[in-house]
Amino acid sequence: MNLEECLHNKYSKSIKDCTDREIYLALLEEVQRLSEQKRIPDSSAKKKLYYFSAEFLIGKLLSNNMINLGIYSDVKRQLEKNGRSIAAIEECEPEPSLGNGGLGRLAACFLDSIATLGLNGDGIGLNYHCGLFRQKFKEHKQSEQPDKWIESESWLIKTNRKTKVDFKGFSVSASMYDINITGYCGRTNRLHLFDIESVNEEIIEDGISFDKTDIEKNLTLFLYPDDSDEEGRLLRIYQQYFMVCCGAELILDECMKKGCRLYDLPDYAVIQINDTHPTMIIPELIRRLCEMGIDMDDAIEIVSRTCAYTNHTILAEALEKWDIESLKKTVPGILPVIEVLDDRIRRKYSDEKVYIIDGDDCVHMANIDIHCSFKVNGVAELHTDILKETELNRFYKLYPEKFTNKTNGITFRRWLMYANPQLSDLITSLIGDSWKKEAEELRKLEQFRNDENVLKRLLEIKYSCKKELCGFLNKTQDSVISPDTIFDIQIKRLHEYKRQQMNALYVIRKYLEIKSGKKPEIPITVIFGAKAAPAYVTAKDIIHLILCLQELINSDSEVNRYLRIVMVENYNVTKAEKLIPACDISEQISLASKEASGTGNMKFMLNGAVTLGTEDGANVEIHRLVGDDNIYIFGDNSDTVVKRYEEGSYNPREYCEKNPAIKKAVDFITGSEMLEIGDKKSLERLKNELLKKDWFMTFPDFEDYCKTRERAYSDYRDRMSWAKKMLVNISRAGYFSSDRTISEYQKEIWRL
Ligand SMILES: *Cc1c(COP(=O)(O)O)cnc(C)c1O
Repeated sequence: MNLEECLHNKYSKSIKDCTDREIYLALLEEVQRLSEQKRIPDSSAKKKLYYFSAEFLIGKLLSNNMINLGIYSDVKRQLEKNGRSIAAIEECEPEPSLGNGGLGRLAACFLDSIATLGLNGDGIGLNYHCGLFRQKFKEHKQSEQPDKWIESESWLIKTNRKTKVDFKGFSVSASMYDINITGYCGRTNRLHLFDIESVNEEIIEDGISFDKTDIEKNLTLFLYPDDSDEEGRLLRIYQQYFMVCCGAELILDECMKKGCRLYDLPDYAVIQINDTHPTMIIPELIRRLCEMGIDMDDAIEIVSRTCAYTNHTILAEALEKWDIESLKKTVPGILPVIEVLDDRIRRKYSDEKVYIIDGDDCVHMANIDIHCSFKVNGVAELHTDILKETELNRFYKLYPEKFTNKTNGITFRRWLMYANPQLSDLITSLIGDSWKKEAEELRKLEQFRNDENVLKRLLEIKYSCKKELCGFLNKTQDSVISPDTIFDIQIKRLHEYKRQQMNALYVIRKYLEIKSGKKPEIPITVIFGAKAAPAYVTAKDIIHLILCLQELINSDSEVNRYLRIVMVENYNVTKAEKLIPACDISEQISLASKEASGTGNMKFMLNGAVTLGTEDGANVEIHRLVGDDNIYIFGDNSDTVVKRYEEGSYNPREYCEKNPAIKKAVDFITGSEMLEIGDKKSLERLKNELLKKDWFMTFPDFEDYCKTRERAYSDYRDRMSWAKKMLVNISRAGYFSSDRTISEYQKEIWRL
């Protein structure tokens, strides 16, 4: 494309005279036009995938779309020729705030791969106007602001589709907005985002609070509004039903248009249910089929042959259940269907644990999914094994043929080609560029294992990414850090099972060590990035701890030459793209059995970071791929952890008393240095939480964690042997391309 000509047509101005924003808007328009050309009429394929997800954490789209359209380097060059930078243009684009973390990011990577592989598949979700929230740090604590990301000119395309959605006592009118998803040298699919016409941002009070009962104004304001109270829970039910009601109508319309007889629905549509949030699609479709004259038995059978379910967690508190009373108050249309489904299960099986409605009149959403889907998948080998053997064992015994593993993946276009162009170019110069579509080709890099020049280049590129990150953090949040330190990074949602608290305890220990005169040979920069759910008290307390440590350590001139802490504000996809290429050590330290897969671990590996982690989620597969020498594994394995939970034998206070090093670090949380900076109540609450519960068992793993971390730091000093570890990690990351994941879904589940 000719940018000069575009700008001339749009503004009668040259590149040199346009503002960054004008260039951004012109590119937006042109990219929209080009991606539109890659759409393929729906009528050309019989069967279509509908990927339902409450979240799509898609990240900024301009550069990614340009890469996928094959015009990125050309546009970049045209800009540079005129003294402009693509980075400045990118900054004009707001990041869509449509997800929490891994689950939403997975959905986004999947859409990229589906379009890249030329598959006919659209995403279905909601158009949250203020997204999750924008995180700000105030007085060493997280505060939440609405993240308004929608501008008058954006990637959203308003469609003519309107749907009436009936709730108890009122109905709302829905419109559909589309975002084009263009694959790499592939086709353009769409992400359909439903919205209410009557949404009103003015009801937001200070922060992210608003009248949770005013559904006609608030339905699509926020992603997962605080569900710590009854009204928040009801709003979530409204959101979920709204999404599936609109989606169901879309699917049926599209299928009928292709001449589908309702009985043949499974030949025309496959619905992937991303975690339980879209589960109501099952009763909603059954309800609609019955309304169209199909009898209940047949409707259940048809829908069950159309839907497949992805399980994302085995944390008990995250398995959604809604009480019947709440459903009655909000979405009475589907309640009778749920009751029929439950009734059938009761008549067929005697094990109460597989019922849909439990003894307390709660509806278990995952149970609907498992009974009424033709496939159920976990997201990493270990996770799927745990589902089969323990968590969902009862269901596995009923339906062994339904269970399958689909290890998660990430799109290499965003997480390598875009985020790390230098590394991407190096790889291409060594092995050609077929790896961009055939990720396993990265294996060819192994022939350079002992090539000093290549290893040196890897180290140079890492250093350059670290320098860039230093500049970025300095500009965006005044952080002062040096690229001549080890970058040890943990970025992910804040949750106790991910154990940021264990990382923080290590930091305390290191601080005390340095204070006592034991200086590390290479200085260390520990970087965190994490949002905590607004109502999750312990998670917020952990953020407070980290921010206080940041203040204490970075301002201590005795220590800050050896150790610095950075908590990145408002961690999101854009920040991840800058942090990941700069990472030396990737912290993946969840309690074994608790992280279903993780995808951050894959992004880091692909960018030449070495993993420090537990045998959890996809770490297990990373470990197997790279071997013991190229990863740092520590801690108890999932069997031990599961057993310890079953026995209920874990007593953190005892552990702490017996282990002086742990005690010292834990006591420090409420020591005088910390209380001078932080909030006594919050720090004490956190310390008590650890001593009384430590539900995610940081103490038993702590010693091994510290030892293993020291070993990694020590190995880091031998730069050449470290570079070899980096190379092995990159070369074996091909398996984690989401193209591989999606072709497995295609072959074994969707069969488009
Ligand atoms: C990849 C990604 C995640 C998931 O990270 P995990 O370490 O797998 O939990 C979360 N947030 C963002 C912005 C991401 O890009």
